Order: sequence, then C-alpha cells, then structure tokens
Amino acid sequence: MNISQHNVIYETVLSPRGNLLVNQHIYSGNPLDRGDAERRDEQFLVHASEHSSSRFLLFKNQEILITRSSKPDVTWLSRKDLEGMRISEPVFLGILESVYYFAVDNIDEECSLTGFENSEFIDLRSLTDIVDHSEASMAAQGKAQLDWHKRNGFCGVCGANTVMKRGGQVRQCSRCSSFNYARTDSVVIMIIYSGDWCLLGQTRGRSTDKTRYSVLAGFVEQGESIEEAVAREVMEEAGVSVKNVRYHSSQPWPFPSNLMIGCYGEASSTNIKMDNEEMQDIRWFHRDEIARSLQGLNDSLTLPGPIAIAHHLIKSWVEGTLHQIDES
Ligand SMILES: [Zn+2]
Repeated sequence: MNISQHNVIYETVLSPRGNLLVNQHIYSGNPLDRGDAERRDEQFLVHASEHSSSRFLLFKNQEILITRSSKPDVTWLSRKDLEGMRISEPVFLGILESVYYFAVDNIDEECSLTGFENSEFIDLRSLTDIVDHSEASMAAQGKAQLDWHKRNGFCGVCGANTVMKRGGQVRQCSRCSSFNYARTDSVVIMIIYSGDWCLLGQTRGRSTDKTRYSVLAGFVEQGESIEEAVAREVMEEAGVSVKNVRYHSSQPWPFPSNLMIGCYGEASSTNIKMDNEEMQDIRWFHRDEIARSLQGLNDSLTLPGPIAIAHHLIKSWVEGTLHQIDES
C-alpha cells in the first residue's frame, strides 16, 4: 500500500494546520481521512465495503493479522479474500488516496485463509516493533472500534438491540432510537517531581518483575478536570500533593480504548503514604538513577519501553525538556 511513512517512535512535528507543535506517540499519526461526510451515507458504505480496491484489516480475539516476511507487514485483505469467512460487520476506518479502509473481526472458531500461509495473528503491542507506525495507528483505530461494538450490542437506556451506524462511529437503539457514540476512556498519566527526584510506582498485580517501575496513572472521573484528576490520583495512590500540573502530550492506547493524557507536575509534599490496595510500591528516584536505566546501565530499575507515553514523560524529565512545548 502507498501510505506516508511515519517510522518514528516519538517526535515533535508541525501541525499541518499551523505552527502548533504536537508530540506524536505510537498509535497516533493516523493518515486516514475518517470520511465524516461519507460515513453518513449508508449506500456509500455498502458500495465502499464491496469495492474491489477496498482493503480490510482482520482481527481475531483482539489480535491482528500480519504477514511474516523479510519485511513484516499488516495483512491488508480484499473483499474477495474474506469470502466464505464468518466476519463481523465491517467498521469503516477512512479513506486514503481514493482507497476505502475497513476493519473486521473473524468470528469463526477457526480462521482458514487460503493464500496467506505466512500470516499470523499477533498482539498489537508486538506490532509496533515490526510495521510502519502509520499502519500501527490504523490498526489501533480498528481494534478499539471492533472491541467497542462487541461490548455495546444492547441499548443502555431500554435494553433493546442496537445497530451500527455511520460505519461504526455510533450505535443506535432499534427500539428507542437512542444514539451511543463510540467512546474513548480518558486516563491521566503523570510524572511528578521534586527537584532532582521523581515519583515512580509499581501497580499491584501488574508485573512479577520487582525492578519495574513507572509513572502513576488513573482514569479521569466524571466531573473533574484533567488537572484535578492528576492531583487526586497522586494523592490517592501516593499521599503526595501536587501543584502546577501541566499537559505534555497524549497517546491513543487501544487496550481496550483509552486516551492517555500525559502531564507533569511539581510535588508540594514529599512524604509517601501509599495506597496498599492498588500499589505494590512507590518511591522517589533520583534523576541520575533514572538516566542510567534509560541508558541500559541500571539492573535495579526497569522502566517502560518507548512504545508507551510513560517512557517519554520520564525521558523528557531526565533531559529537562518537559517544558519544551510551553517555550515554543
Ligand atoms: Zn433503547
């Protein structure tokens, strides 16, 4: 396929709409035009999904089909390739250079694809190591959408069946006509620092690796701002109060459908009073100790890899570039 290359893990880029600086993480940078006008036309969607040039991502049990070769790639299937296979209703991802892109779930016990012997289903976390990041972002969109549809087959108002509309952006109740829009759950993820020290923790039950630490994170609750969510989560998990909370960057995180909102803030108290139910450990780490870990020179502290926004928040703090966006 002919799509623009975004083989970057994280970069600061100029927005095409102006001079706004945006930070781009893995799973963002989706090159598709999501076709807001087209997806409101049901006849168009039927035509597009039947078109011979349209391309489909295939998922099974939350995993995506890829082709193993000297240059592994996402497997883009045609409608013909899907013939004879039990699949979900396709969700419309968007348009690029007059080609329509969709995602579908294989809902057979077995997935028999002839002519794709080198293909296999893999977790999206592994995908980012091997494919173009534009395709990873399209895969993230497909996975999040398919998962949302599986969970929203019934109306939250009256309990009747819902049907897909607008190519998958919304489901409408067959009885009371209520609309349910595909949602993304907001998660704040924040690096909190005090001078040369920053706060990292281990979530209980997340990993058996006792050296693995990351920044704190939590869901934004109803009726609070991003800044308030940061302050509340840090207080709940660590008993530390924070001030001067600022936004850093964000990342779509399709596990299952989150938007990670990266922030940073200063601690206004340093005594830790940990939530033992949620957290295994929380500690202050010195900048030098973290710098050695990022260089692979510190066996006693394992940090998140470059796939995650957490890595870049930590790295930006160590390098003193957290404020880069403010100063532009
Ligand atoms: Zn209803």
